[in-house]
Amino acid sequence: MSSRFFEQLNILFQCRKYGVPFFQCPQLLFLLMGAVIIITTILSYYIGSRYIEDPLLVTLIVLLLSMFLLIVSFFVTRSFEKLAEVARIKSEFVSIVSHQLRSPLSNLRWATELLVSGKLGEIKKEQSKYFNILKQNTKRMTKILKDLLIVSGIESKNFLSKKEEIFLPGLIKKIISKVKKRKMTSNVEINFQFTEDLPKIYTDASQIELVIENLISNAVQYREEGKKGKVDIKVEKKRKKIYFEIKDNGIGIESQEQKYIFQKFFRTKKARKYQSLGTGLGLYISKEIIEKLNGKIGFKSQKNKGSIFWFRLPIK
Ligand code: ADP
Repeated sequence: MSSRFFEQLNILFQCRKYGVPFFQCPQLLFLLMGAVIIITTILSYYIGSRYIEDPLLVTLIVLLLSMFLLIVSFFVTRSFEKLAEVARIKSEFVSIVSHQLRSPLSNLRWATELLVSGKLGEIKKEQSKYFNILKQNTKRMTKILKDLLIVSGIESKNFLSKKEEIFLPGLIKKIISKVKKRKMTSNVEINFQFTEDLPKIYTDASQIELVIENLISNAVQYREEGKKGKVDIKVEKKRKKIYFEIKDNGIGIESQEQKYIFQKFFRTKKARKYQSLGTGLGLYISKEIIEKLNGKIGFKSQKNKGSIFWFRLPIK
């Protein structure tokens, strides 16, 4: 009982419970509104007693003003609390659904692969068409589920980054050779440049790997069909930070769509036409990771010309 009482008083604990940024936390707003009411009450009393002679009238005005502010702050805090609660339930829902889907989907994958392999008997031409549809869609669902699990991990209250010292160019080379094995990179030239004096950075290697792999995959896949792709990656040290940049000559992003690019599930019209497999979660995940590691991420893009995505991270 007493521990619950202290939990209620612990603002940081309450804010973490909702999983929203500190400045959007209803409890913080409640405190701020309280401070505003106290200051307004004192100020209105001083100003009132200067210009109004009747002390009773001053008290009445101060009381009415404070009551009005109290009612307004009650409704504002309640709406913020509801919004924060909806955000928390939404994240919890994504987390539960994605965890529950894991094992049925892996059974489905296993069964599909067995059917497609022909080990259960010869596959007729007509059957093979449908088996391939099954395989493609299972692959798609697996990708969506993988991204949803990452999102739920990042949004969870227990998200912890395991930091270590890493040499970014080494990690990037590893990711490039992984991406180069994919079929979609066959018509793409990937160049990588970095300055020799780069320091190691203290960060979470597996999270950064997710970000870089996503940015390289995007740069490689979002290009006009048949056009030779060119992707230039560079890493350098800029003002005590490590700066990563990836430039492509792909389809680019229309200016009206640019403001939505880091939103969950957002995909541009053109991208949906060229790549049906995407989830629209990669950039949201990348932004969350980079910001959690105290960095910044951004981009510049021009329709039909290409895009530049970048991020910077603190060295320590
Ligand atoms: P996904 O690639 O799975 O759709 P992302 O979150 O990685 O999800 O990207 C979101 C959207 O941003 C993509 O669907 C695409 O419309 C756009 N986008 C991302 N990177 C690029 C790029 N290099 N060139 C053009 N469009 C891009």
